[in-house]
Amino acid sequence: MTNKIIYMDNAATTAVSDEVIESMLPFFKDQYGNPSSMYSIGREAKKAIEDSREIVANCINASAKEIYFTSGGSESDNWAIKGIAYAGLKKGKNHIISSKIEHHAVLHALERLSRSGFEVTFLDVNEKGLIDPKDVENAIKPETSLVTIMYANNEIGTIQPIKEIGKICKDKKVLFHTDAVQAVGNVHIDVQDQNIDLLSLSAHKFHGPKGVGALYVKKGITMQNLIDGGAQEKGLRAGTENIPGIVGLSTAMQIACSSIDERNENLSKLRDKIISNLLKIESSRLNGDLEKRLPGNVNMCFEGIEGESLLLMLDAKGICVSSGSACTSGSLDPSHVLLAIGLPHEIAHGSLRITLSDQNTMAEVDYLLEVLPPIIEKLRSMSPVWNKGR
Ligand SMILES: *Cc1c(COP(=O)(O)O)cnc(C)c1O
Repeated sequence: MTNKIIYMDNAATTAVSDEVIESMLPFFKDQYGNPSSMYSIGREAKKAIEDSREIVANCINASAKEIYFTSGGSESDNWAIKGIAYAGLKKGKNHIISSKIEHHAVLHALERLSRSGFEVTFLDVNEKGLIDPKDVENAIKPETSLVTIMYANNEIGTIQPIKEIGKICKDKKVLFHTDAVQAVGNVHIDVQDQNIDLLSLSAHKFHGPKGVGALYVKKGITMQNLIDGGAQEKGLRAGTENIPGIVGLSTAMQIACSSIDERNENLSKLRDKIISNLLKIESSRLNGDLEKRLPGNVNMCFEGIEGESLLLMLDAKGICVSSGSACTSGSLDPSHVLLAIGLPHEIAHGSLRITLSDQNTMAEVDYLLEVLPPIIEKLRSMSPVWNKGR
C-alpha cells in the first residue's frame, strides 16, 4: 500500500477521471477546428461547446444562454465581482458585501476594488464558520450592488444558507453571486430555487481538467467583460475557446451531478470515520460545522503541532493532505478562515485538512488512521510547546 499515493487533498484539485480524458481526446486530435470557422470541423467544435453548455446549465437548473465558459474558478470569481461592481458604479452603486472566509480569488478581487474607491463589507462568521443571513440583510444599503458569499468553504467545508441569503438579496433587489467551486458535484444546486444570480464553478474540483470553468449569469443582468477581443461567449469573454477543456468540464459535471446522493453517502461514511477516530486524540478539535459540511471534508487541529510537520510526515507515508489551503502554505500566516472562526494564532497553525473524493476507499481511510496517531504522538514528544505545560 505504501508504494501507491493515497490522495486526500481533493479540495486542492482532483484526479481527472478516465471518462473525462476519453471525452477530451478527439478534440486534441481530429476535431481541432476553430469553433468560429464555418467549415465542418469548425461547426463540430461549435456544437461540442453548445452541447457542453446545455449539460452545465441542466446541472444547476439554468438555461444554456446563461452559461459562459472561463479559464476556471478564479476567473469566474473575478469576472462576476468586477463585472457587476463596474456595471453598478454606472448606477451610482459602489458597495459590495462579502464574508471573511472567502477564497482568495474573491478576497483579493474585493481588496483591489476597495483600493479603487469601492466600499466592501466583509461579514463575520460564527465559530462554526457559518454566516447569519440577518447580517447580510442588515449590511445592505441603497448603494449595494452585489452580495458575494461562497457556497461551501474550501478549508473547513461549511455549507452556507445560500437559499436564505439569495431570498434576502432578491427582496432587496441586490445581485447575489456565489463561489460554488467546492459545492458543484457535492450538493444539489438549483439557481432558480435558491435565488442565485451569478455562480462560479471550476472543472478541476470535480475530476475535470485544470484551467477551465464557467460562470452562470442570470438572464437580463448586464455586466462588464474582463477580456476584450473577439466575439466569443456573446462578445463578453474573448478568446478562442478551450474546447477539450470545455468538453472535459461538461463530461465531469454530468457524472458528478448525476450521482450526488450515492456518492455523498459513501463519502460521509469515510469522513465520519476519520473525524470520530481523530477526535479521540487528546487536545484535538474539529473545525467547521458537523452537519452543514461538505461530505468529504475533515479539518482538525492538534494542539502543540504544526500543520506543515504533519503534512510532511504523512507525505513520507504516501498520503497527500493539506495544512490550511494551498494558497496560504508557503507563507507563515495562519489561515484567514481559521482566524475568522476565532481560533488563536498558535492553534490555527496546527490545522490539518483531509479532503476525500469518490476515488478514496475505506482501506485508505484505515491506513490513514493507522499511521496518523503515532505521528502526532511523535511530533508532540518533540514539541517544546506541548511539553511545557505537562
Ligand atoms: C479552487 C477554488 C477556486 C479557484 O479555482 P481555480 O479553477 O483553481 O482558479 C475558487 N474558489 C474556491 C472556493 C476554490 O476552492
